[in-house]
Amino acid sequence: MTQGRPLLNRRLAGFGTTIFAEMSALAVRTGSINLGQGFPDTDGPEEIREAAVRALRDGRGNQYPPGPGVPELRTAIADHQRRRYGLSLDPDTEVLVTAGATEAIAAAMLALLEPGDEVIAFEPFYDSYAACIAMAGGVRVPLTLRAPDFRPDLDALRDAITPRTRLLLLNSPHNPTGMVLTREELTTIAGLAVEHDLLVVTDEVYEHLVFEGEHIPLISLPGMRERTVSISSAGKTFSYTGWKVGWVVAAAPLVAAVRTAKQYLTYVSAGPFQYAVAEALRLPDAYFDNFRADLRRKRDLLGDGLRVAGFEVHQPQGTYFITTDITRFGEKDAYAFCRVLPERCGVVAVPNSVFYDDPEAGRAQVRFTFCKKDEVLHEAVGRLRRLAS
Ligand code: PMP
Ligand code: GLN
Repeated sequence: MTQGRPLLNRRLAGFGTTIFAEMSALAVRTGSINLGQGFPDTDGPEEIREAAVRALRDGRGNQYPPGPGVPELRTAIADHQRRRYGLSLDPDTEVLVTAGATEAIAAAMLALLEPGDEVIAFEPFYDSYAACIAMAGGVRVPLTLRAPDFRPDLDALRDAITPRTRLLLLNSPHNPTGMVLTREELTTIAGLAVEHDLLVVTDEVYEHLVFEGEHIPLISLPGMRERTVSISSAGKTFSYTGWKVGWVVAAAPLVAAVRTAKQYLTYVSAGPFQYAVAEALRLPDAYFDNFRADLRRKRDLLGDGLRVAGFEVHQPQGTYFITTDITRFGEKDAYAFCRVLPERCGVVAVPNSVFYDDPEAGRAQVRFTFCKKDEVLHEAVGRLRRLAS
């Protein structure tokens, strides 16, 4: 307290340490297997790391890169969007490189919201959404995804739209549930956005991790090109989460708005890594196919193991997370369960309950990541089997 008031302003009151930091610290402290925070325990392609080293050595990106990102990366992003999704983008005006998807989300909220604007988002929310909406003075309006399949209730979405609704913040493939929006669902959402003249921000960081169905960027649907801010990042797709290279693609006026906020957050970041990610995006289809196949196999390995260990498993269609229900163990509180899990069996997971405004909706849900070596996953499920005994 100073001057009789808390140091942290009221917009951020209640936002403590992120659950990922808390649970990763718990894993380190207890020497547990960390299936909490989503980061791979194996680095991505060697040639991409070498590309970063080369850029560093050659002095490319060691000084401030251009505000919107280096041209090589912006062009590679535009080419990737064309190759994968048939989208045509001007790399100079319709692509913006950011410090991970995290900065892109923050900049989009800060740029596009007026205080009091309502933002509809699926809960459970990725943790930064609530904080970014709050920092921008927005009001979040949750649309609860419910187990077992976590499909969005689109009638509820229609009902949630009010004259104060400014934007929809969507995430597909969805962290933590693994739900992937279908073309039908996306078409309905697009129709509502057009009907109510809403902006849509789409978080697509798991675009290359879809095991059932396909990833369809909402921006590619009719009427959405001029109202969608599409966000992705290299972290998940190339297994270099520490590099923090993300991007926004959108119509030029939207990119200009997001860039205005972004330039005062970090201005620029990750110079040499931008060149490496430009090369990564040009990897042949085989890279993306193998990556997906490998993670799909790991999903099944962990999913089967969790079932044998007694968890109810909600099969994810995408991402690298599995949401489980712990009720069968006679447990009701995911957060309490995750706090003692290291002690009970040497494994760390994340409680989905913290991602909901409605604490009841996710009370008994626990998330495990499967982006780990096979032997680590085997060892983890072996340990988790102790829970039943
Ligand atoms: N959105 C979602 C849904 C995520 O899971 C993550 C974590 N990778 C992010 C955004 C943040 O991505 P980045 O690390 O690129 O900032
Ligand atoms: N996206 C990662 C997850 O969901 C965490 C990233 C972070 O710690 N901010 O686990």
